Amino acid sequence: MRRETCQVLILGAGPGGYVCAIRAGQLGLDTVVVEAAAPGGTCLNVGCIPSKALIHAANEFQAARHLAGPNALGITGAAPTIELSRTMAWKDGIVARLTGGVAGLMRKAKVRMVAGQARILDGKSVEVATSDGPLHIQTEHLVIATGSRPQDLPVLPFGGDILSSTEALSLAAVPRRLAIVGGGYIGLEIGTAMAKLGAEVTVVEAAPRLLPQYDAELTRPVAARLKTLGVAVLTGARAQGFADGALVVATAEGDRRIPADKVLVTVGRAAATGGFGLELLQLDMAGPFIAVDDRCRTSMHRVHAIGDVTGDPMLAHRAMAQGNLVAEVIAGRNAVWDKRAMPAVCFTDPEIVTVGRLPGDAPEAAVTSFPFAGNGRALTLERDDGFVRVVHDRATGLVLGIQAVGAGVSELAGQFALALEMAATLTDIAATIHAHPTLGETVQEAALKGLGQALHM
Ligand code: FAD
Repeated sequence: MRRETCQVLILGAGPGGYVCAIRAGQLGLDTVVVEAAAPGGTCLNVGCIPSKALIHAANEFQAARHLAGPNALGITGAAPTIELSRTMAWKDGIVARLTGGVAGLMRKAKVRMVAGQARILDGKSVEVATSDGPLHIQTEHLVIATGSRPQDLPVLPFGGDILSSTEALSLAAVPRRLAIVGGGYIGLEIGTAMAKLGAEVTVVEAAPRLLPQYDAELTRPVAARLKTLGVAVLTGARAQGFADGALVVATAEGDRRIPADKVLVTVGRAAATGGFGLELLQLDMAGPFIAVDDRCRTSMHRVHAIGDVTGDPMLAHRAMAQGNLVAEVIAGRNAVWDKRAMPAVCFTDPEIVTVGRLPGDAPEAAVTSFPFAGNGRALTLERDDGFVRVVHDRATGLVLGIQAVGAGVSELAGQFALALEMAATLTDIAATIHAHPTLGETVQEAALKGLGQALHM
């Protein structure tokens, strides 16, 4: 059997694994990354990037449809049509460009890439099934970055017309009727896009409301928009199965049949911990996830875990930050994982951004907010729904959290995170000159309002 040795061996080249590999390479560590599928992992291949490409195409299509009908802008156009297979080919081109870029960055950092399925033998060695036969790799440090995969339901196993997000992001045609089981961010992002592309969409959610991880104030504008788009929402409802072209759903009023051509199941993602010998290490687990400390160390010496395999929140930028951190820790630097200023974005319509503490997490804190209806830029974009909310210490004005719901607010996530990272106070934000007219002015206005100095309210 062929044999190799290295200092750092990373299993999985998703956002966690590839960032860890690049940083380890930059720090001069002899690094190998093993990937069974394509570089970039879930995020680049079947997650963040494909979904945002689909959302963009759907928004363009909907805007063209809007402008083809009566509108206030004085624009007259022809009704658009869509060939989804071409949209998907365009999306695939973006994915290929990005995954090729990631492979290039790893090469530049002198990281060795091995294509194949890895199987752990012990905490220091792994066997990889490559196209050239098995390869044995011996390492000083092992980093598990195997990510997650879509979770199905026993009553709705994936296959045929029952889709995971992966298949939904590669459909060749827009389904006429799409039922979505699970009203979290992945289901709503894809569902909203499909509704804009002309599908008849029904969302089934077991919790009493959509996006149950967010507070009701933040989700209300999203629910209102879904209604405008004609998306039917059934909350407090549980899917029972798919038969004779209909999704069967149990509700408080009894069973209902929802006719559907395709059913998308987005009820969560399972950590990829099985099938590659991980159990041999007998690591401490936190439920279905690998337990890690604030340096992403597992219970075994010199074995780290990062990204989705370590649990919620399953987000690409969290995986990347942990990947970077682990490379630094292995190189002997003093780095710790702190998620206090980590943003989360939901690319629904309107978008939701949350950073730091929510009003419910900090009942002793004060909250100030400003609506997009009072923002000039929002009006010129024909989108005055939503608001920005700043949670802050009552006595000092220290910003503890910022949230927003509104069109395009994802681009404010960095500004919100920076405010927390720099320990900004309301006075800092209020004194920062914000460009006019921009959506970010709402944050300044919210801060001014919190100081009792509101100018535009
Ligand atoms: P992954 O990206 O899952 O990568 C793990 C890699 O390990 C995979 O490539 C896999 O092939 C490989 N692997 C597994 N086992 C082995 C083995 N035994 N041997 C070799 N290789 C192996 N996050 C955001 O932050 N923003 C978003 O907008 C966003 N949108 C999303 C939309 C969708 C539809 C989905 C599904 C997810 C989205 N996410 C988003 C989540 C994001 O994709 C994940 O949090 C992120 O990819 C996790 O990175 P990771 O490195 O932990 O794992």
